[in-house]
Amino acid sequence: MPYQADDQRYSQMQYKRSGRSGLKFPAVSLGLWQNFGGNKPLEDSRAMIRKAFDLGITHFDLANNYGPPAGSAEETFGQVYSKDLKPYRDELLISTKAGYYMWPGPYGEWGSRKNLLASLDRSLERMGLDYVDIFYHHRPDPDTPIEESMSALAQAVRQGKALYVGLSNYGPEDTRKAAEILREMGTPLLVHQPNYSMLNRWIEDGLQDVLEEQGVGSIAFCPLGRGQLTGKYIDKLEAEMKSGQLTVKPEAIAPERVEKFRQLEAFAKGRGQSLAQMALSWALRAGGVTSVLIGASRVSQIEENVQAVGQAPFTQEELKAIDAILQD
Ligand code: NDP
Repeated sequence: MPYQADDQRYSQMQYKRSGRSGLKFPAVSLGLWQNFGGNKPLEDSRAMIRKAFDLGITHFDLANNYGPPAGSAEETFGQVYSKDLKPYRDELLISTKAGYYMWPGPYGEWGSRKNLLASLDRSLERMGLDYVDIFYHHRPDPDTPIEESMSALAQAVRQGKALYVGLSNYGPEDTRKAAEILREMGTPLLVHQPNYSMLNRWIEDGLQDVLEEQGVGSIAFCPLGRGQLTGKYIDKLEAEMKSGQLTVKPEAIAPERVEKFRQLEAFAKGRGQSLAQMALSWALRAGGVTSVLIGASRVSQIEENVQAVGQAPFTQEELKAIDAILQD
């Protein structure tokens, strides 16, 4: 039976304009970084992408190197697109990126025009698309003039291979410079994609001000701290601490922080939310962030996370209490 999208798909999700652009993002977007590669069953990925769209998630975020292996997440998306989503192309925001290592030799990564435009062509082929909605430079390149990388993004738009352009992992000063160059080229910067969560607040130290000043939106990646803010490691780590056999890596969650995550979990429960939902509400609080970009490995996680949309806003006291829990 051909896929028929849920006709209630726009009833719960909220949509917000990215900066001063005309384009609206869903409050929750889905990223295909690690759980949609060629090493995962296609039907699992297909079920998650379909469920996301049924829940009003119109934005799917990819990059040339997502997988594993690199490139295979775009192939997965391409297959699901051709089987299920093609009739809905005009309801979808599909993004990809270039900048990280993709192929050997001097043109396979970073920010030259050669790399960025060749990579975009390969991404379009893998996904079976004529254009992406957003094409990002994935990371700043210290050795390529910023004018060259930005003119490659603008050229992708002029060629009709992208509708909008974005930057990821750029610091405040480079972002301001890039936004000014892009504006002069007639291709305003749509969005910045930074790491942002309760556990990583670097954008509050300058970047958010630049984005506000330049009229650029932001889509926060790893809003769940790569799973730390979901409780997924806490039970496992506590059990392992009792048995003395630690397999959870300290970079995933340090044993001395377990107590903090338990407190956060209890705090979320008091607000009627799961820890994951509270982490997403927190990242979206006060409207500074346009969308939160979640990862997921199963349909139920997407269902749970989407419920954060429209849940209770935070009082100042609640925000202070969360800061106090997280303080070292
Ligand atoms: P998250 O912080 O959203 O972590 C996602 C992981 O948390 C999932 O894979 C899952 O772990 C777990 N999880 C999610 N929801 C739940 C839930 N309700 N209950 C329990 N566990 C849950 O971010 P990611 O690190 O996955 O990144 C999200 C996206 O951000 C990427 O797909 C990509 O699009 C983008 N990104 C961009 C980067 C950039 O440089 N621009 C860098 C990194 C990410 P499990 O898989 O173990 O079940």
